Amino acid sequence: MKRIIIHWTAGGYYPSDFDKKFYHFLIDKDGIVHNGIFKPENNLRCVSGHYAAHTGGGNTGSIGVSLCAMAGFKSAKDCGKYPITPKQFEAAMEFCAKLSIQYDIPINQNTIMTHYEFGLKHPETSSAGKIDIIFIPPYSWVEKADAGKFIRSKIKWYKEKLQGV
Ligand SMILES: [Zn+2]
Repeated sequence: MKRIIIHWTAGGYYPSDFDKKFYHFLIDKDGIVHNGIFKPENNLRCVSGHYAAHTGGGNTGSIGVSLCAMAGFKSAKDCGKYPITPKQFEAAMEFCAKLSIQYDIPINQNTIMTHYEFGLKHPETSSAGKIDIIFIPPYSWVEKADAGKFIRSKIKWYKEKLQGV
């Protein structure tokens, strides 16, 4: 696996069976990690109907991790009824750190990114214009342009903690 792409489901706080088709791992509001239907390895070679289609134009070799939240999100001021919870966010960051160790994926902007960042880098794909993740409710002061960087710094912190650095 060459990278991790981080999403929100734009749904409620728990994964639906439908959501589980699209992501390898889903983190609920309490920080519990749910497995999707497909394994990360199913995305090494994307065969129609047999992989997690989480990132249009970028699924091959990509692990898809999604936070179950953000239905009804319109803006930072109108966040809907399911804002990402602090516990959920931290659990997702720690889980991504574990994946980074398990799959030997370094932490940089080309290997761990949000779906939003992938879309910015690949405007020719259907990922262009995706808004996950432009706003982090528990850290509402983080600017849209910094959300990915903030996420990577969090994952790095958890990784070093897990490795006892
Ligand atoms: Zn997404």
